[in-house]
Amino acid sequence: MECRACPFECGVDRSQKLGVCRASEQFEISLARLHLWEEPPISGTRGSGTVFFSHCNLRCRFCQNYEISQVGLGTRSVTSDVSVMSRVHEVTPERLLAIMLELEQQGAHNVNLVSPTHYSDQLLPVLERARAKLQVPIVWNSNGYEKAETLARLEGLVQVYLPDLKYHSDELARACSSAPDYFRFASSAITEMKRQVGRNRYDEHGIIEKGLIIRHLVLPGHADDSKRLLTWIHDDLGPRTSVSLMAQYYPVHRAADLPGMDRRLSVEEYDDVRRLFEELGFEEGFAQEPSSASREYTPDFNGRGV
Ligand code: SF4
Repeated sequence: MECRACPFECGVDRSQKLGVCRASEQFEISLARLHLWEEPPISGTRGSGTVFFSHCNLRCRFCQNYEISQVGLGTRSVTSDVSVMSRVHEVTPERLLAIMLELEQQGAHNVNLVSPTHYSDQLLPVLERARAKLQVPIVWNSNGYEKAETLARLEGLVQVYLPDLKYHSDELARACSSAPDYFRFASSAITEMKRQVGRNRYDEHGIIEKGLIIRHLVLPGHADDSKRLLTWIHDDLGPRTSVSLMAQYYPVHRAADLPGMDRRLSVEEYDDVRRLFEELGFEEGFAQEPSSASREYTPDFNGRGV
């Protein structure tokens, strides 16, 4: 099957050749575990059952998870020849389903699929089976660079969408993530997510059961781009949209290649964006302390799995 799952529309048969994301048609996961550092309605008290998929369709130069998204942890980043790929982290659909159920048994408030976009086609049958067995919601935790028509097929299978909304400026998106038309695709994808899940719903402990939380990482030197995104969310999706305004940028991977982004975000820059967030009258959202900009809050992808 030719892969056109995401906006790159590579059109490659992933059993034979790799596209931009460098993922074959087999699932590869780098880590699955209870995770306590997501937003409070996601992590709750017992943790979110995160499944980190290897590879990614974006190439963010400041990616904090670059070991799994771009380096591939000993998988296939060095070659496009499927026959010589390492199979270290491949899991079958049956094993992936079992992992989701194990996470629920461990007490997870939800099953949180991190970076799932490039496995959208392969995940559909797994999610259909998982939905019939799981009691907890399924969270789609993505980078936002997705096709609305791909997401439409997830309707009823995913209860919570947790997308990034990274850039308003096309120039910035190309420079930071090599993603043409990022805002056009991400805004249309998030609009589709909102259509599917409607207003957020929480249980009596404040854990999200259904809904949308948009994450935005404020970048050093680009507070104005953040403000344009907040204004779009407010005007197009409404002030009831839940936004997680993140301050945790720190220069890792190839961030030094980006002019002015080889430093942490200043408190003033973050406060500037946060002020607009408050002035616009959003009814729900999450902010971070500047101390969250630390390697300490990034999972250690040691490849040992669950
Ligand atoms: S999921 Fe991967 S192979 Fe498929 S279109 Fe996107 S980047 Fe290309």
